[in-house]
Parts: sequence; C-alpha cells; structure tokens
Amino acid sequence: MAQSAIPSATPSPRTDPAPLRVPVREILPWAVFAAVLGAVLIYFVGAEQGATSLFGGTWVHEFTHDGRHLLGFPCH
Ligand SMILES: [Zn+2]
Repeated sequence: MAQSAIPSATPSPRTDPAPLRVPVREILPWAVFAAVLGAVLIYFVGAEQGATSLFGGTWVHEFTHDGRHLLGFPCH
C-alpha cells in the first residue's frame, strides 16, 4: 500500500483557483469589431435618411423604422 491511514502532519498545498485574467490583446480586436459593428448599426437605424443617406430611396429607412422609434431617434 502506498497510502497510509494516518493523516500526515503537513497540510496539503492550497488549491485556490487562479484569478481570472482577461488578456487585453485577445479582447481588443473583438472590442474594435463590436464598436465598428455598433457604429454601423446606429448609423443605419438613426441617420440613414435624407442628406446623410448612403443609399437611394427610403428602403433602408423603412426597414429600420421600428427600431428607429424604439430607440427614440427623431423620425417624423
Ligand atoms: Zn417614424
């Protein structure tokens, strides 16, 4: 038998979990991607109309119209 029935006097080393560390280098590209995607979404919902319109017609405005009102952008 390799194990003894008598408990040892030396305490076992603590096995606390390591603190959760988030490496910034791994997060940064996703944060930039999310910021760009969010800016594009905000643009299409809030500013794709009239003089700031990138696409002709009103189809983008009509497509995002409910979201526009939901988020409180001025519309009509
Ligand atoms: Zn409206």
